[in-house]
Amino acid sequence: MAGAVACLQLTPAPDPTRRPAIAPTILALPLEGGAEGAAVRLHPLVSGEMQIRPWLGELREGPAAALRELLTFLQPKTTWLPVPVYLVEHPVAGPILVETGLDPSAASDPAKTMGRLFGSVLFSYRLAKRTVREQLADRGIDPDAIRTVVMTHLHTDDHAGGVGQFPGGDFIVDRREWEVATARRSILKGYYRPVLARSGRWKLADYATAQPYGAFARTLDLFGDGSVRLLSTPGHSAGHQSVLLRLQSREALLYVDAAHYERQLREELTFPMAHSKRTHRETLAEIHRFVVEHPNALVIPGHDPRVWSQLEPVYE
Ligand SMILES: [Zn+2]
Repeated sequence: MAGAVACLQLTPAPDPTRRPAIAPTILALPLEGGAEGAAVRLHPLVSGEMQIRPWLGELREGPAAALRELLTFLQPKTTWLPVPVYLVEHPVAGPILVETGLDPSAASDPAKTMGRLFGSVLFSYRLAKRTVREQLADRGIDPDAIRTVVMTHLHTDDHAGGVGQFPGGDFIVDRREWEVATARRSILKGYYRPVLARSGRWKLADYATAQPYGAFARTLDLFGDGSVRLLSTPGHSAGHQSVLLRLQSREALLYVDAAHYERQLREELTFPMAHSKRTHRETLAEIHRFVVEHPNALVIPGHDPRVWSQLEPVYE
């Protein structure tokens, strides 16, 4: 319905086949503000919900799985999933975000952040009562003061849709993710380049210089103090990254779309339409090992309605 309305618009739509006119730079680490022994606070926020076709969440493996993945698109959309954003407060470096969540236009005009082709086909959206910017302000954070946004990956529009909401931010993304997301016809893989062009401040994380940390083979220490580590967790997408936080009392792992659901991690199930099922399995094995070695850690999947309904407003 929204797509049909969009087709009647007289203003020219952005051309998704054009590469964004952006010159990303290589991320230089550590960022300023690191402090030895620093612990961060985590606020899990929900920007809204996305409605999917149920087979997309069933996570089957085996010969019939590929056929079911295709047939998924014949099903009606019936299942609502949360679309999160994570506010992380560092005691010296200040607030950073992980993800941007839904753009406020997502429910009324999904073509704006997903393009006309997929804007009304793949998912439907409903927004939280308060936008992400309002939820930050509710917590005493000026959304325009957000200087760093870690993008786990660039799938639109539940992850990258809100890029334009944070004009003061540097957006950190794995270099491999950027290359796939800005390649020709990336829209067919779930990326929408006009959304990426809403920021000119892209910083590419190069995991060639990464260090192992615990269960994870490739990690980057964002502030050089161990409080926020980026983890290379590809598979769902080419350059998916997860985030490991040091809270005062324990560690918190945001594994986002490396596993949409808790069950997916427990049973090490890859997701339909994964960029690479083999790489995704390796990632799931790393996260699983972390969970076994850190039974008290807070571990949060990307879109699990049951887990998200039980999260507290803030973790320290
Ligand atoms: Zn994704």
